[in-house]
Amino acid sequence: MGQKNGAAPPAQGVPIVLTGSATDMSDFKLSPFRAFTGGFPTAIIPRFLLRKYWYPRVPTNGDSTAKFAPYGMRKIEASLIKEFGAQKVAVAHPYDLKTFVGPNTKVIGISSMEPAGTGFVSRTYTSLVGFGGEPVAAAEFRDLITNPILRKWGAKIVLGGAGAWQIHRTKLQKKYGIDCIVMGEGEKTAIEIFRKALKGEELPQVVETEPPNPEEICPIMNPSIFGTVEITRGCGRGCKFCSPMMRRCHSFPLEHILQEVELNAKNGTQMIILASEDIFLYRCNDKFLPNREAITELIKSIAAVPGVEFIQPAHAALAPVVCDPEMIEEIGPVLREKSYWVTNETRHSSVEVGMETGSIRLLKKYMPGKMLPFKPKEWHDVVTKAIEIMNENYIWPLATLIVGLPGETEKDTVATLELLDKLKHNKLFYVPLLFTSEDDCMLREAGHMDLKHLTPLQWELLARCWRHKQQLSRGRQRRRLSHLHGYPRVSKFLNFDIYDLNIIGGYLDKKEKQPQIVTVYGSRWLTKRSPFPNYDLY
Ligand code: SF4
Repeated sequence: MGQKNGAAPPAQGVPIVLTGSATDMSDFKLSPFRAFTGGFPTAIIPRFLLRKYWYPRVPTNGDSTAKFAPYGMRKIEASLIKEFGAQKVAVAHPYDLKTFVGPNTKVIGISSMEPAGTGFVSRTYTSLVGFGGEPVAAAEFRDLITNPILRKWGAKIVLGGAGAWQIHRTKLQKKYGIDCIVMGEGEKTAIEIFRKALKGEELPQVVETEPPNPEEICPIMNPSIFGTVEITRGCGRGCKFCSPMMRRCHSFPLEHILQEVELNAKNGTQMIILASEDIFLYRCNDKFLPNREAITELIKSIAAVPGVEFIQPAHAALAPVVCDPEMIEEIGPVLREKSYWVTNETRHSSVEVGMETGSIRLLKKYMPGKMLPFKPKEWHDVVTKAIEIMNENYIWPLATLIVGLPGETEKDTVATLELLDKLKHNKLFYVPLLFTSEDDCMLREAGHMDLKHLTPLQWELLARCWRHKQQLSRGRQRRRLSHLHGYPRVSKFLNFDIYDLNIIGGYLDKKEKQPQIVTVYGSRWLTKRSPFPNYDLY
């Protein structure tokens, strides 16, 4: 089924079927950051509406296979096609499984980002909203995995993808009837699992994969959602809460990258996401000094591919920005021209950066390489300088902050608040995340942070992040409301935008000496009425 020639799928089914949940198989209307909302709870908006308007299904080819699929699934598909032939593999949207699963189907591979809703984003935003049950992504995964068609013909069920560990950790494997969970990079080991399944052999319940050699990783053969292409894999900075740090760092050759970009652009993906743990790792030297020439060539070559309308780098480290501001001056205008984002009538590009903490103590303990080639004590200067350089070049980053790292003290939180203070006039969006110990990281034994255990200062930190976002997007809110009759009057009541549905509320119960969660309300409400007045809200 690799060639999309419009031929009807075989009536008896395809031997290997690959699929994902409705959230994984959507491009969220071309907004990769909107895809974060898969971690929000189900009770806010009915799922039938979300499916239609928020995460509509990807289109299909003439033979009913999915036109676009998650990048990781496309990688496995390419390896499977290479090994077993295109006619033996089909990638299908979950609503089309009946078309592909039949008596000849031996194995169904499911790729998932958030199958149990226990990742950083889901845990944080489901609990912050304060009601609403399981995250949307987990509910969609449950709908998929309990679909009777999966088991109708006795095919083996294999689960992989970045979130596979969640099913293992939550002990849902048996309940969901999953034969084998594959954790880690799939190119090498997963192929052996599929081979066994095709032969009808028993599968191991859980497999931790062996990393592939770079030359074993073949380019995708069909287009990926968001036009994702992999630039680098792995990261050597050594943060203990992170799984990519466990992987060997490797940059893909430019020809390999451009081949994938051209494939995506030719198929109309419009956007190209540059997947990497840090775009500046691309062909950098072993001291984490960025390779300006290579990065500039990479960005400009991708921008020159016909059909590429938007370029979105996924992640970037802050230290390389300070190492080489001229590199940012060179790529900044290209990224801005190819950006999807406009805020307050300003076109700007964006990228997720790991700020994580303002505490030098926690930085040294859990992120010893984050600031390299600088020293840990220079972290505040590195962050503020990097954001300043980015802003000068119209890059408004999305900065993650980890709240509740193991052993975090009030002093550590104050240090983070101080760092936020230094950035109060900068243009960036904060993404605070509750610490989550993922299965394939060094802190896997540490306990998760949850709302019940947040200190007043940590609540303050969350409130401040929201307040900053409100200030940045205020112009946008006003524009959205300006079509309403009598705007100045109604705006007093309606002065929020849709993203404020990620609303937080909390108060300090003096008797219990514990912060308490209250019903969902506007972030403006929370920040204006913060019960923790020691810190000025700006
Ligand atoms: S810098 Fe980012 S990708 Fe690298 S180890 Fe740290 S958190 Fe992970």
